[in-house]
Amino acid sequence: MSNIAILITGGAGFIGSHVVRRFVKNYPEYHIVNLDVLTYAADLANVAEVADAPNYTFVKADINDRGQVAEIFKKYDIHSVIHLAAESHVDRSIENPLLFVETNIIGTLNLLDAARKYWAGERERNGQRHLFYQVSTDEVYGSLGEEGLFVETMPYDPRSPYSASKASADHFVRAYFHTYNLPTVVSNCSNNYGSHQYPEKLIPLCISNIINKKPLPIYGDGLYTRDWLWVDDHARAIEIIFHKAALGETYNVGGHNEWANIDLVHLLCDLCDKALGRSEGESRALIRFVKDRAGHDRRYAIDATKIQRDFGFQPSVEFPEGLRQTVDWYVRRNL
Ligand code: NAD
Repeated sequence: MSNIAILITGGAGFIGSHVVRRFVKNYPEYHIVNLDVLTYAADLANVAEVADAPNYTFVKADINDRGQVAEIFKKYDIHSVIHLAAESHVDRSIENPLLFVETNIIGTLNLLDAARKYWAGERERNGQRHLFYQVSTDEVYGSLGEEGLFVETMPYDPRSPYSASKASADHFVRAYFHTYNLPTVVSNCSNNYGSHQYPEKLIPLCISNIINKKPLPIYGDGLYTRDWLWVDDHARAIEIIFHKAALGETYNVGGHNEWANIDLVHLLCDLCDKALGRSEGESRALIRFVKDRAGHDRRYAIDATKIQRDFGFQPSVEFPEGLRQTVDWYVRRNL
């Protein structure tokens, strides 16, 4: 085994599990240490297929526990970090903002500080650079009108406790880069969709409700617009950024794929009807418009030109096909 141990936090969650599986399979020379406290959003089944790999270790631990985090750096000789662990649901952040401050801000600081102390000001060891990679969201940029795209140079303008906590964490990552010379990169990605996601966010919640013939709650007028990226494309972007991005850089990652929620749910209903052998229009009849989320951002859209220009990164899956595969995955799992 190589001496390069990479700490991936939140690796039993949605995006983290895609990143963990990809890194364990593609890099036998890395030792992948998956740190996850296993909240409601996690599922160890998400990483079951790599659980016995010789280059993989799972550690149940809490990033909010500073002592535990420092111990893990020592015990596994952590060389680099890909940080995904977070509280990630906007509605939950409106219910309990302090939890988001603890995990998303303090938890990130605990990791940053452990890296700063353990790497002791060095940016590389044996010719291999250290890296603290912060995986963040496009929601830090705020809300767009009908026109425009988020670019990396835009000032942050978060509107929800979730996005404010992620924005704060991103600021601390950059502060550690400038103040302590810590080798860092940040990426900000649009909404992900795909397999292995806890069914509380729009797509997996709707699929789960359709399977169970429950109502499909749509906020407000349904015209809230998001850019959607196939989760495995995000994991691939993370792999590229981890290996190639210059220190201190920021990359936006997106799908060039804007959908109003109501149009997306219509497509999802039609795909589910087909996958479940139901008659046309059966699932659309489950749609219910519900009271809007407080402070709901109208539109997010990413300008992903920089990652395309620097690394040739492009989304690999068309949305209707990715959504069809996503539906198939949830339907198979529920049968
Ligand atoms: P998720 O909620 O599915 O998974 C989060 C994981 O973090 C879970 O496995 C959970 O157990 C773990 N975790 C939470 N608190 C922890 C703690 N205190 N200590 C250790 N582990 C803890 O989230 P996700 O959707 O996979 O998002 C992963 C990251 O990507 C987050 O940082 C999120 O902000 C970011 N992101 C998500 C999206 C998206 O569309 N889902 C888009 C852009 C960026």
